[in-house]
Amino acid sequence: MRMILVGPPGAGKGTQAARLVTKHQLTHISTGDMFREAVQNKTDLGQKAEEYMKRGDLVPDALVIEMVMERLGRDDCATGFMLDGFPRTVVQADALEAAMKQAGMSIDVVVLIEVPDDLIVDRIVDRRMDPDTGEIYHLKFHPAPAEIADRLVHRKDDTEEACRARLEKYHGETSPLIPFYDGRGILKRVDGVGSPDEVSARIAQQIGS
Ligand code: ADP
Ligand code: ADP
Repeated sequence: MRMILVGPPGAGKGTQAARLVTKHQLTHISTGDMFREAVQNKTDLGQKAEEYMKRGDLVPDALVIEMVMERLGRDDCATGFMLDGFPRTVVQADALEAAMKQAGMSIDVVVLIEVPDDLIVDRIVDRRMDPDTGEIYHLKFHPAPAEIADRLVHRKDDTEEACRARLEKYHGETSPLIPFYDGRGILKRVDGVGSPDEVSARIAQQIGS
């Protein structure tokens, strides 16, 4: 299966992606994680991406597209993948479609996780990540075990200010993907309000598994 997860920042894409890739044995491609790793390793790409990310801006399309195309060309993507956080613009979606077509493939399903803006800021500012396992926690909604609390990381862009900038980008640049994929008949809408288990059950129902 070749699948895309779309939704505003904090919608629960990373949380649901972790469950879906295990269940369906897919390679998880998170462009946010790839950029954060590049920033941490101070690569050329990381240095170019860092300022955009800190401000809550999108990294320019050309950089993102090059990174994703290289990743999709690796062997572990041959049998299926889950794109989490890509595409985020229609330019990126066009590039992905052209690359898939050239490879004789197509995207099977695009899951849109919908969460209203007024719930997003709370989810984002109290998000914490475990750098050792990649597990995503939340101070209120999904607290980490006390013994790992000290090592949790708060993302630099998980401030209220950057979150509002990211929401604005989502509505301006990413939401046009909704009619884009709906027009291709592969968009599935899922209500992202409720517990993670409830959201997982809705996704399973929508993708027929
Ligand atoms: P995204 O990848 O879309 O930005 P995350 O999966 O990182 O979203 O989730 C954002 C924050 O909200 C995290 O702290 C996560 O623990 C929490 N979260 C995820 N799903 C839910 C949910 N269904 N209800 C409440 N909080 C959630
Ligand atoms: P969130 O979990 O809030 O949805 P991500 O972890 O997916 O955020 O992405 C973090 C940041 O990385 C984005 O705010 C943006 O700066 C950059 N980024 C990730 N994916 C893309 C993309 N497809 N296009 C442009 N920028 C991206």
